[in-house]
Amino acid sequence: MISGLIINELVEIIMAFVVTDNCIQCKYTDCVAVCPVDAFFEGPNFLVISPDDCIDCDLCPVECPANAIFQEDEVPEDQQQFIKLNAELAQLWPRITEVKAPPSDAKEWDGVANKIENLIIEE
Ligand code: SF4
Ligand code: SF4
Repeated sequence: MISGLIINELVEIIMAFVVTDNCIQCKYTDCVAVCPVDAFFEGPNFLVISPDDCIDCDLCPVECPANAIFQEDEVPEDQQQFIKLNAELAQLWPRITEVKAPPSDAKEWDGVANKIENLIIEE
């Protein structure tokens, strides 16, 4: 019989990745191309990851030109609200499975602070 302790050791802890502030208005979608489970959902000027779909493969953060993707337990202190926001908006927005051209002004927005003020939930 396997003890609860051993079972705990055998269970792999899957932690979702989270898209944060610097994706807003940049939305390059390079991340979408590498996700093996199509875990990204698209809003008007932001992408989110569904925590229900993400398998913690770690492929997308390095693809993001805006350095906007973090593992859930590494989300910066001032970006913590994005953990809940990713989960909620993934329920609201459509899944995105193909790379799209970024907004024409994406570079100008890269690195601008507190872009959450410009987040568009619905058009
Ligand atoms: S690559 Fe980065 S900036 Fe582009 S959509 Fe994905 S998370 Fe957003
Ligand atoms: S960590 Fe992997 S599964 Fe999760 S969103 Fe990124 S590419 Fe997709």
